[in-house]
Amino acid sequence: MSGLNRITRRSFVTAAAVTTAASALGAKTLGLASLNGRDAAGMPPVDWRSQGVIDLKRSRYAKLHTVPVHAVTLHEGFWQDRRKTNVSQSIPTMHALLEEHGRMDNFRRLCGKSIAAQRGRYFSDSDVYKWTEAASFADQSGDAGVFQEQIDVITDLIQRAQEPSGYLNTYYADDRVNLRMTQQAQMVGHELYNIGHLIQAAAAQYRATGDQKLLDCCLRFVDDFLLPGYGPELTKKPIVAGHPEIEMALVELYRLSGDRRHLELAGYILGSDQRLVLTPDESVYLFCGIPFVSRTKLEGHAVRAMYACCGATDYYMETGDENYWRTLNVLWEDLVRDQMYITGGVGARRKHEAFGDPYELPNLTAYGESCAAIGNMMWNWRMLHASADAKHTDVIERALYNGINSGMSLSGTLYCYRNPLAFDPTVSTPIRNPWYDTTCCPPNLERTFASLPGYFYSTSADGLYVHLFHNSTLDWKLEGGLAIHVEQQTGYPWDGRVQINVNPAESAEFTLYLRIPGWAKTTKVEIAGKEISGVVPGKYLALKRVWKPGDLVSMEMDMSPKLLVADRRVAEDQGKVAVQRGPLVYCVEDIDQAPDTSVRDLRLVREQDTQSKFEIRRQADLLGGIDVLEHPGAYTRNAEADAAESLYAEPGAASSLPTRAKMIPYYSWANRGQSGMKVWIEV
Ligand SMILES: [Zn+2]
Repeated sequence: MSGLNRITRRSFVTAAAVTTAASALGAKTLGLASLNGRDAAGMPPVDWRSQGVIDLKRSRYAKLHTVPVHAVTLHEGFWQDRRKTNVSQSIPTMHALLEEHGRMDNFRRLCGKSIAAQRGRYFSDSDVYKWTEAASFADQSGDAGVFQEQIDVITDLIQRAQEPSGYLNTYYADDRVNLRMTQQAQMVGHELYNIGHLIQAAAAQYRATGDQKLLDCCLRFVDDFLLPGYGPELTKKPIVAGHPEIEMALVELYRLSGDRRHLELAGYILGSDQRLVLTPDESVYLFCGIPFVSRTKLEGHAVRAMYACCGATDYYMETGDENYWRTLNVLWEDLVRDQMYITGGVGARRKHEAFGDPYELPNLTAYGESCAAIGNMMWNWRMLHASADAKHTDVIERALYNGINSGMSLSGTLYCYRNPLAFDPTVSTPIRNPWYDTTCCPPNLERTFASLPGYFYSTSADGLYVHLFHNSTLDWKLEGGLAIHVEQQTGYPWDGRVQINVNPAESAEFTLYLRIPGWAKTTKVEIAGKEISGVVPGKYLALKRVWKPGDLVSMEMDMSPKLLVADRRVAEDQGKVAVQRGPLVYCVEDIDQAPDTSVRDLRLVREQDTQSKFEIRRQADLLGGIDVLEHPGAYTRNAEADAAESLYAEPGAASSLPTRAKMIPYYSWANRGQSGMKVWIEV
């Protein structure tokens, strides 16, 4: 996260845990309950136990519908290791760090429980809210109630810190009260950004326990403070998002409340209020301040742009506004054609943490903020549900396994803020740290991993979509109400074979939509041993039939490692290749090189038949257990240039030392100390 130069920086589902006790604000609790009963879309209310990461069951323009996090149980394997570490290490240590750095005391101070001075930047409240969201998602799956006590304490502090007017912010208090909601504060002060994260935390907590206390706080802010004083009416003050986030949160609040004013407020903010005039540079950087539908490219601060796109897609799924859909698709094409790293990371420039020009994708100085890759996944998750198009799932998987996964150390306690595609330890500061003064990324990674089970499947009117692969079980129901139990057995992402056991409660006709990854050259799909035709990479394979309990779908994806080249307009990657196997992008690290050599000197020796040149070796004791790739390579040096004392010299003869280039998955880099690294390798 950063500001403009002037402000630089920038369910568990056990009935026992359900607490529906009226909060101190009983009226609002009642309000939400009754709003659930009179849904604006005229559809029946959705039980909290049935709600997904975002809840689309009543979204008229969503083709797919999410399943709740608790419906999917991850078993042994890649993401289960990560999920366990997240619950046992990341979320608890982040709670301690938030305490240590005064983030909780900021709330205690406002309720008279602490005399500590305010600490942290103006977005610090969002760190507490994102932690609460992560803990609430963890409590929706295998770790029921682990964090509930801590969440209850935080909830109590938030309730007490909220002012009678509904206003809530620990930074704009005391001598900063006069700055509240001024145009300057709205632009760079993150008041509504913070509330957006509170709404997302409140939704996750409600979906874990049915507890509405945090939602009450959100309704008090939006209904009592924001709506009466701010909006398009001339009697009210205008709003600019500043850091987009509130838009998607308000649409989610609408999905919970059924109160159309929440959706309309999101639309008003996305449309931008022309009474507030931003400079062109400001509207580019902030990715707000001009109508969203007037955007033609991704630019400015990457996290802001991604979050704005999330909000706009959410708004489209409720309204069906074609102008939004058209704009979103233009922006998506811009993303995948010239702005996205091979890791799914976005945001090329350190300055303003921003998108660059088309094809400006530097490696060493790549910014690739963890939050931006997460924003990319969140946006594509929404685009997937609006369109049912597997091209979005390909982007989700690319970001998840690479540019997001690299953001957290294997220990779960160190985080990357930047995720570059090359690294020189002699000129760079530590890349993994336990804490950042701007600590947006760590709890963002935690909430993403905690909610991950909710990303594996979706339902549609005619069946079930399988998006991701992992040892897991799904216990859910089709949209007609038929209970279904699905088991996946696989060693993915190390092994391309997946066995999917489909168990409807009784035989019934429906369609199982099986994702065929775009990266898989060939995928063989069989049902009960009979091969299925019509498999197309990058599409969902529609398997419509009468499914019987115990039907078995087998798929086998080609997991051969591949060399990839970049579009010739990406100047940084010319003469280089990247290596990908399945969904995993690989890299080379200094620590794996011969003595007195560096990845800087390493190139791959490429011959015509590249596939056969790879050797895949399982190393269970390395980096949590990975498949290492080896490929013929050479260290090439130029003695004259090395010896020259000037920056430039005539080339002279190069020496070349053959080697086997050892590659590790990109997500696992910088877990053995700080080491030189590169993804794009000279050939
Ligand atoms: Zn961040």
